[in-house]
Amino acid sequence: MPSETIKLTAKFKLKNPPRELDDLFSTYHKIVNYLITYAFENNVTSFYRLKKETYKNLRKEYSSLPSHYLYTACQMATSIYKSYRKRKRKGKARGKPVFKKEVIMLDDHLFKLDLEKRVIKLSTPSGRIILEFYPAKYHEKFKGWRIGQAWLIKTPKGVFVNVVFSKEVEVGEPKAFVGVDLNENNVTLSLPNGEFVQIITHEREIRTAYYLKRRRVQRKIRAGRRREELLEKYGERERNRVNDLHHKLANKIVELAEKYGGIALEDLTEIRESIRYSAEMNGRLHRWSFRKLQSMIEYKAKLRGVKVVFVNPAYTSSLCPVCGGKLSPNGHRVLKCSNCGFEADRDVVGSWNIRLKALKMWGVTVPPESHPMKMGGWKPTRYEINAPHTTNG
Ligand SMILES: [Zn+2]
Repeated sequence: MPSETIKLTAKFKLKNPPRELDDLFSTYHKIVNYLITYAFENNVTSFYRLKKETYKNLRKEYSSLPSHYLYTACQMATSIYKSYRKRKRKGKARGKPVFKKEVIMLDDHLFKLDLEKRVIKLSTPSGRIILEFYPAKYHEKFKGWRIGQAWLIKTPKGVFVNVVFSKEVEVGEPKAFVGVDLNENNVTLSLPNGEFVQIITHEREIRTAYYLKRRRVQRKIRAGRRREELLEKYGERERNRVNDLHHKLANKIVELAEKYGGIALEDLTEIRESIRYSAEMNGRLHRWSFRKLQSMIEYKAKLRGVKVVFVNPAYTSSLCPVCGGKLSPNGHRVLKCSNCGFEADRDVVGSWNIRLKALKMWGVTVPPESHPMKMGGWKPTRYEINAPHTTNG
């Protein structure tokens, strides 16, 4: 069976980060900025060249610092300088590139993570130190995963370690595909047995409610720290709620698709900037949130051995899935085929076409889809998914 890699990042919050971490942060910050300036002044975009030309001097100056900090600082500086160059070419960057964040990149020589003991062993100029972290329930699922890079991050809320975990999974040949059409308030699935399932998410209501809350805060409380804190609090609650909703939604989609072994999603990466995108995405999920939900579906599917394919989204809501004729609007969210008379909700049409495209892409000859017994015969089965309501927020 072909194997695929799943990569996920987990966040660990440190309990009582020691003072010496502050020194490490400021030393590392200085080194990264020195390297960025060096890269900028000598136009160095290669990690190897940057390391080769700066290592000796840095080694001398920071002799007690474990050498791998210099390697990861070179990696960070190279990628920061490269993205600065890219932005500059687009006219979006001015002046000199500067690194402002308090971030330290770690490789496997610099840290060891022990999920059972809930500690991270970190190499520092004064030797190995042990950092305890607050355990989270979701950390448990990473037992047995491979540990990759990590980042130490200092924020006003504390010091965090973000760790990249990876795992090889076996993904079988799909027997059939479930077509998934993602919208802001519902997700519609076209199943290979001809049924349709619509999951109502209420995401738009959640977002609107939080939008109104934030606006009320902005009106009633004058600018200052208190206002910032309240806005931040609501922002975090909204993110948590939408995130929770997306987990439930992705689980449900994967559950429904598991016996078929395949899920088809729209590939929206290529047409990001096009006009069609903004017209089509109008009233849909925010792009960022949409990609996040897609990658959540993708990794949850892979973990259960379900293949995910991405299809070109062109015409998924304008061509008839039965005969290929042109569809026209026929009332609220309903589309009708001028050729064969087929009529259905636009979400049903979307998910159906996505499924058909996946079959074609996968080289499956598509049998003619059965004609409706009666018009409007495609009524999806509805489910509701609710994020937990926070009582006072
Ligand atoms: Zn038709």
